[in-house]
Amino acid sequence: MRLLLVEDDALLSDRLRVELEQAGFAVDVAADGADAEFMGESEPYHVIVLDLGLPGRPGLDVLRRWRAGGNPVPVLILTARDAWHEKVDGFKAGADDYLSKPFHTAELIARLQSLLRRSIARSHGPLRVAGLELDEDAQTARISATGEMFELTGTEFRLLRYLMRHPGQVLSKTRLAEQIYDFETERDSNVLEVYINRLRRKFGRELITTRRGQGYVFGTGPA
Ligand code: CA
Repeated sequence: MRLLLVEDDALLSDRLRVELEQAGFAVDVAADGADAEFMGESEPYHVIVLDLGLPGRPGLDVLRRWRAGGNPVPVLILTARDAWHEKVDGFKAGADDYLSKPFHTAELIARLQSLLRRSIARSHGPLRVAGLELDEDAQTARISATGEMFELTGTEFRLLRYLMRHPGQVLSKTRLAEQIYDFETERDSNVLEVYINRLRRKFGRELITTRRGQGYVFGTGPA
């Protein structure tokens, strides 16, 4: 199981990483909110541990952006002791569980395993929208009708996953461009068009409709 640990306290994250790896997780660590947001959006983690007090971008903002982007990954937040309002704000932002610092690692692991059991019970395999099936582990997409399978580059995968999570909605170029660039790359809408056209060539032009001056619609757009 792949786990993203977002924690800026290096002593704590070093210790947790060892203990979580011993418990069988493959752990990536982010110590900064902006890095965390990008990693959580671009890698298919099974679960995320998110400290709320972070440099770069507050943990609650990171969580809100993941949820606004349609990312359903289970998230456990780490809150300051006795800060009950952080728990309320965290659940409102889309957290699935919380632990207050300080905590015992055994409790963290038990809560993560419980979250994973629930999320596996919820999931129904590949994402299926508009005649396409997206395998998020293999980063491949299949046309349901013909069975034709395509491998996707990392950028194609992130863009298609975002489109498939928001079918029938007008998605602005700015919003879509956020899916294909990391936070350091200069944003250029011509590059977005190149990727949209690549997806159209693979899966059919009619799958992504251009709405002039507004953006793109995936699947059955509003008439
Ligand atoms: Ca912190």
